[in-house]
Amino acid sequence: MKLATQTIHFAQESESETGAVTAPIFQTSTFQQIAPGRSRGYDYARTNNPTRARLETVLAGLEGVEHAAVFASGLAAENAIFQAYLSPGDRIIVPPDVYGGTHRLLYQSWRTKGIDIVAVDYENAVSLSAALTTNTRLVWLESPTNPRLLIYDIAAVSAAAHAVGALVVVDNTFATPVFQQPFQLGADIVVHSVTKYLAGHSDVIQGAVLAKDAAVFQPIKFLQNAGGAVPGPFDCWLTLRGLKTLEVRVLRHAENARRIAEALVDHPAVSRVFFPGLADHPGHEIARRQATGFGGIVSIEIDAPLEAVQSFVSNRRYFMLAESLGGVKSLICHPATMTHAAIPAADRTRLGLSDRLVRISPGIEDGSDLVSDLVEGLNALSAIREGESNGASVGAMASGG
Ligand SMILES: *Cc1c(COP(=O)(O)O)cnc(C)c1O
Repeated sequence: MKLATQTIHFAQESESETGAVTAPIFQTSTFQQIAPGRSRGYDYARTNNPTRARLETVLAGLEGVEHAAVFASGLAAENAIFQAYLSPGDRIIVPPDVYGGTHRLLYQSWRTKGIDIVAVDYENAVSLSAALTTNTRLVWLESPTNPRLLIYDIAAVSAAAHAVGALVVVDNTFATPVFQQPFQLGADIVVHSVTKYLAGHSDVIQGAVLAKDAAVFQPIKFLQNAGGAVPGPFDCWLTLRGLKTLEVRVLRHAENARRIAEALVDHPAVSRVFFPGLADHPGHEIARRQATGFGGIVSIEIDAPLEAVQSFVSNRRYFMLAESLGGVKSLICHPATMTHAAIPAADRTRLGLSDRLVRISPGIEDGSDLVSDLVEGLNALSAIREGESNGASVGAMASGG
């Protein structure tokens, strides 16, 4: 069964009592028992709920494994992984540009409990093997990364990590199972911010942990119930609904991203375009090898002062100024003052997160509308710069923008 068929048919049988074609929402906190200690498989909804169980089956199928646990957010899912596998003295290796929320959770919370966190540039095999000490428990990967869309070689990093007995976790939020199957590349655990492409409509916060191996999964399943950061049945139902269109959405997101990247790459107001689908992107060949698509996000660096960049992101017709990504509606974000503002300015510079960087999450609107909206705004910035070089007074224009 191909993925687009799977999202409609796998674990989507009608409900047994009424024949309802879609999964019912079991909006209940508890379940009547047949006799003390004898349930019909469900006893309390933190532990399990049929709507949630159906979602977990569907998600596991999408990543090609048997085990999935959903959580109230992507970060709650990540927190369960850290709690399950890290004890004081253990090491976790992360990329330097790990997702901001993951960075905050690890460095501001888990580090204070004696966890050794080491940031390694996975493009550098020598520094990776130097960092892979015997106390390394987890090797954490994202590919593409956020917001610079770097590509890391999941198979190569997994092989190196397994050589010292570490578990490999891939945050597959950006690529989605439509484009990238981390378990086939060596991952032991896959984590998702379901909030983004999987739910897909900017109306749910949710996360998921998936595992290939029952023994690896067991502590995650335990913590889902014991820690209790579970999503409600309605949110699970929204994700089940969103997943049915996963492939058509993701393919359109990616097509729009490609069109935007290609339209902006030679624009005079754009100094750099980050998109793994461009042939000169440093990770282009690896991306082609390990994924079937380049994802739906484009980042650009705008050659203009901060106020002009802020005006550009604030005044788009089809791109709402908002954090998050992966929804049907286009969003635009200024990482330095929004998603990545918590990272100290010096670290931002070191990581290449300049004040001029803009992250674009095209929705599934018509691509030509999206391109025109962006080009129009960038043309206005070029016009300002031209005025500047012609000696015209631009102070008023820039501040009024
Ligand atoms: C959003 C995001 C997260 C965190 O997920 P939440 O659902 O917001 O808690 C983790 N990783 C990546 C790559 C993300 O984009």
